[in-house]
Amino acid sequence: CLRSGVGVVDFKPVSWEQIGGLEDVKLKLKQSIEWPMKFPEALVRMGVCRPRGVLLYGPPGCAKTTLVKAAASSSHCTFLTVSGAQLYAPYVGDSGRALAQLFRQARACSPSIVFLDEIDSMVGSRGEDSCQGGVQAQVLSMLLNELDGVGFKPIERRGSARTTLQAQREEPQPLGEQQMELQELCNKDVMIVAATNRPDALDSALLRPGRLDHIIYVPPPDTQARLAILQLHTEKMPLNCDVCLKDLATQTQLFSGADLENLCKEAALLALHEEGMSVSCVKQKYFLGVLQRVSPSLSPHQL
Ligand code: ATP
Repeated sequence: CLRSGVGVVDFKPVSWEQIGGLEDVKLKLKQSIEWPMKFPEALVRMGVCRPRGVLLYGPPGCAKTTLVKAAASSSHCTFLTVSGAQLYAPYVGDSGRALAQLFRQARACSPSIVFLDEIDSMVGSRGEDSCQGGVQAQVLSMLLNELDGVGFKPIERRGSARTTLQAQREEPQPLGEQQMELQELCNKDVMIVAATNRPDALDSALLRPGRLDHIIYVPPPDTQARLAILQLHTEKMPLNCDVCLKDLATQTQLFSGADLENLCKEAALLALHEEGMSVSCVKQKYFLGVLQRVSPSLSPHQL
């Protein structure tokens, strides 16, 4: 059995519309994950190869995990995950085995997406000197093997002992080039998506062509995206008519999506605290009250 928190994750399906802003990122993810999974024939017809792996990078709390869940939901894929912290805790010894098991499970439940969160803490860099260095090197080489071989399944034949004559009769006709490409594409049904806040800390071997070669930056939200995120996270909240989400979007410059979600939740809790359990709506003053006491998690150099 896999370690707790490692392996298939059941979650409520996430739609692309539940993610505010990030339109370019969503399109790139649709093109590299959703389209190859849903429309392999169209991609082959257009001579487009799908990426073997995708790397998402950007500051924390800005929807990397949520984007991968949306990609898995829209492509009807099994979502499997592991983070560096999960892989190395509590025992350092069997991280390699846990990773191997994760990929075996991914193949068994394909089509699937293996999401490697905080990949920097999982593999680091080969030059790096740390007490986990040896194990990290082992995990890195295993991951490179998986990336090089992901989804290439031998074509199984039904039945066991067959006579040479039967074998000859059953020998498939040579496939046309397009059919072969299509078959290869359909077999590559385990997609690896990794995420990091520190792309510079990654071993360059991971980023070579044919590995995590689709590199997508997930930026912090700009004013327009912050407005969209605030709208999404107040969708089910009764707001007083004085609430101006546009104002709040301009006042929350260093806020990540997670910070904005938290702001909305805290404002509702403050309303309940101040006006009691019969309160009917959240006023602007509660949002402003929360803003006065919380600090954003992004720093100016991350913008
Ligand atoms: P980390 O790097 O810390 O793992 P992350 O980039 O993977 O963070 P998520 O876990 O996807 O971030 O997001 C954290 C929370 O913030 C989620 O609950 C999500 O709903 C909310 N959130 C972040 N960005 C957005 C967004 N653009 N639209 C809607 N919600 C968002």
